[in-house]
Amino acid sequence: MKKFFALCLAFVLLLQTGCGTPNPTKYQRVDTAMGTVVSMTVYTTGSQEILDELFDGVKELEQDTLSRRIPTSEIGRANAMSGQEEIALSELCGKTIETCLQIAEDADGAFQPALGNLITLWNIDEQAQGPSSAAVIPTEAEIAEALEHCDYHDIKLNREQDIYRLSLENDVQIDLGAVGKGLALDVLRELLEKSKVSGATVSVGGSVLVYGEKPDEIPWKVGIVNPLAPGESLGILTVPAGQCVSTSGDYERYIEADGKRYHHILDSSTGYPAESGVRSVTILCENGMISDALSTACFVLGTEEGLKLAAKYNAEVLFVTESGEMVMSDGMKGYFTAK
Ligand code: ADP
Ligand code: MG
Repeated sequence: MKKFFALCLAFVLLLQTGCGTPNPTKYQRVDTAMGTVVSMTVYTTGSQEILDELFDGVKELEQDTLSRRIPTSEIGRANAMSGQEEIALSELCGKTIETCLQIAEDADGAFQPALGNLITLWNIDEQAQGPSSAAVIPTEAEIAEALEHCDYHDIKLNREQDIYRLSLENDVQIDLGAVGKGLALDVLRELLEKSKVSGATVSVGGSVLVYGEKPDEIPWKVGIVNPLAPGESLGILTVPAGQCVSTSGDYERYIEADGKRYHHILDSSTGYPAESGVRSVTILCENGMISDALSTACFVLGTEEGLKLAAKYNAEVLFVTESGEMVMSDGMKGYFTAK
């Protein structure tokens, strides 16, 4: 009996001191997916194979669901069926489109998930990789024609219980480029929750998730790039665990012609790159996909309407304007430290 009590006491002491729990090990990986850089740092008591699992999760999301360039992905199949048949969607894809349509409505079309035809016409992603002297700007007539087929109201999503069905009218093409990276963070969070990871930071292009705690318990920090000088930082956000930070900027992907910059965030009310007086927008909120969608929407809307939209989603926002001025939501001021 004495032995039994001694054992119990030892067990309680072990629990209290945390002795016996191995310290988490730090593993890192940088790779490419979704046409961008994916960078992961995890602290785990498990094996480093978690990095493969996380990376495969992003690849799978791109290949099976989101990519417009992969004909077998759900969005690829939906676009191929535009104007023809209805297709059944996975719950993930259905919910994603449902949220996109809601944000499009709340942003009065500044966030426009049906912009595929206009994005294809401008072809900025591909052109940005080629020589700048060869950049081609579409004509006004071509833009007007593409805009005839870029309205999210032509995305018809039906939901019966958890079964989603989608049909596209008026030859619209869905493009989820503005939410894919943020959505990847939500998928990664689910994988992390099932793992032995105690803390992690993962970034997919301009979207970052901070998860759990670092072993040193120092808060997670995310740098804010100066869009007027992208090699420099404007300051640091101290980000609470579990939150996502997404940035959209005109310095990320663009082409130049006749001394003018044409960037990749398009305004469906004009058919041209958005000119709202802002150079970058950073959103901080809990949901990755919403952070990504709002960063694009607020870029198109500009500071005044953008602040209202972010507030509607309980998200914090930081704009950098053309003159280099920073405009922030009140809550964001508590997270930001200037350089
Ligand atoms: P990044 O992809 O560089 O992180 P964003 O999240 O702002 O930047 O998304 C830009 C992408 O979203 C574009 O490359 C295009 O595919 C798509 N897009 C462009 N303009 C809009 C818009 N007004 N609404 C929705 N999607 C857009
Ligand atoms: Mg975005």
